[in-house]
Amino acid sequence: MKEYRSELFLLASALLIGALGGYLYLNKSDITTAQSAVAKVEIQKPVLKYGYDVNQHHFESYPIKYGSFIGDILAAQDVSYNKILELEKKAEETFSLRKIMAGKDITFVKKSECIAPQSFIYAPDLFTYYEYYFGDSISVRKGEVPFDECTEFVTGTIRAGSTLSEALGEKGLGIAMADQLEDALAQVYFPHAQPGDQFKIIFKQKYIEGAPVGSGGILAASYKSGNSESFGFYYENEKYQGYYDVEGTPNKKTFLRAPVKASRISSYFNPNRLHPVLKVRRAHLGTDYAAPRGTEIFSVADGIITHRSYTKGNGNYVKIKHDGTYQSQYLHMSKFKSGLRVGSRVKQGEVIGYVGSTGLATGPHVCFRFWKNGRQVNHLRENFPPLDPMPAESLPDYYEVRDEYLRFFNTVPYENETEVVFASMKQP
Ligand SMILES: [Zn+2]
Repeated sequence: MKEYRSELFLLASALLIGALGGYLYLNKSDITTAQSAVAKVEIQKPVLKYGYDVNQHHFESYPIKYGSFIGDILAAQDVSYNKILELEKKAEETFSLRKIMAGKDITFVKKSECIAPQSFIYAPDLFTYYEYYFGDSISVRKGEVPFDECTEFVTGTIRAGSTLSEALGEKGLGIAMADQLEDALAQVYFPHAQPGDQFKIIFKQKYIEGAPVGSGGILAASYKSGNSESFGFYYENEKYQGYYDVEGTPNKKTFLRAPVKASRISSYFNPNRLHPVLKVRRAHLGTDYAAPRGTEIFSVADGIITHRSYTKGNGNYVKIKHDGTYQSQYLHMSKFKSGLRVGSRVKQGEVIGYVGSTGLATGPHVCFRFWKNGRQVNHLRENFPPLDPMPAESLPDYYEVRDEYLRFFNTVPYENETEVVFASMKQP
């Protein structure tokens, strides 16, 4: 945490010097170059790639073709049949050869252009690689790709007819950032974003060899819609971690709005509805979320499973008790999540089953029912109690972190504004 604070200070200084813009960052190397200029002797370190000195090795990469076998690719490089078998066995402990995917690259490492390779590298993602060595012995090793992480800042605006993701995309930020912002500012309901809404985000950006490869998480964010401004500050200590608002209340909803992602509401809570299957007026005491069969259904809050069974109307369903007041119920599942049973504890967002159309249902959806003090209510109309704020003894430390971010936010206006309207720094 401390190092981010000092980077934040540098970020703020850079801004004050006048590098003001919609998107800026400080390059760590700018700072280190200035420092190393003082040192008299610089030791030339070998440049490593996958742990190999690049001046002493050759790297040959080939895309793995669909339908090809690793064994055949190795055999074509003069690797003996016995070694391939041994490697296959050895790899099971670390990263099975069967997990190697077509479409990705396989990189052979050679000591010289003219001799057969002694190892190959496979990278399942940008940050990890595996080295399969088959020289005088057989070994498989996991490696991590070194990356730089810089603290960066961005401000942007939701334009008419565009979404939050598009507004972030305009600034060169990927879809993952929209998810991260929804976590940081869980009190903001982004599907209701209005044109003219504005955001500021301080985040960690990861770089590999100078190229941005994704966000390492949001440190602080603010969102302004009309006259209301919401904040989320990342804070962690031994007991807590997550996003908190100006007062130190967690920016996490006690209940999620929907039990499935990327769904649409196909039928609202309605005490007087014509039933689609039975064709009679019958109250619909739930909210239907249509989603493809097999979509994960998750618990909207922490709780204990009280029912996990089947009835003709409900199909496969799960009911969860969250506390003395609230219970939730999920109907028409195609399948239950295995390993869970009545009495199991579940966390908010934990998968409990999969969308289906068992019981009385016209198509795949989850009928979500919400109970308050034993009565079914429309969860979209409920004002849920906030999660408990941090205990008093943690607040002073939290305020220190928060104020650092607030001070920074107070030095930069939103994209469409020329001056900063000072953000609140009040202590409750
Ligand atoms: Zn329903």
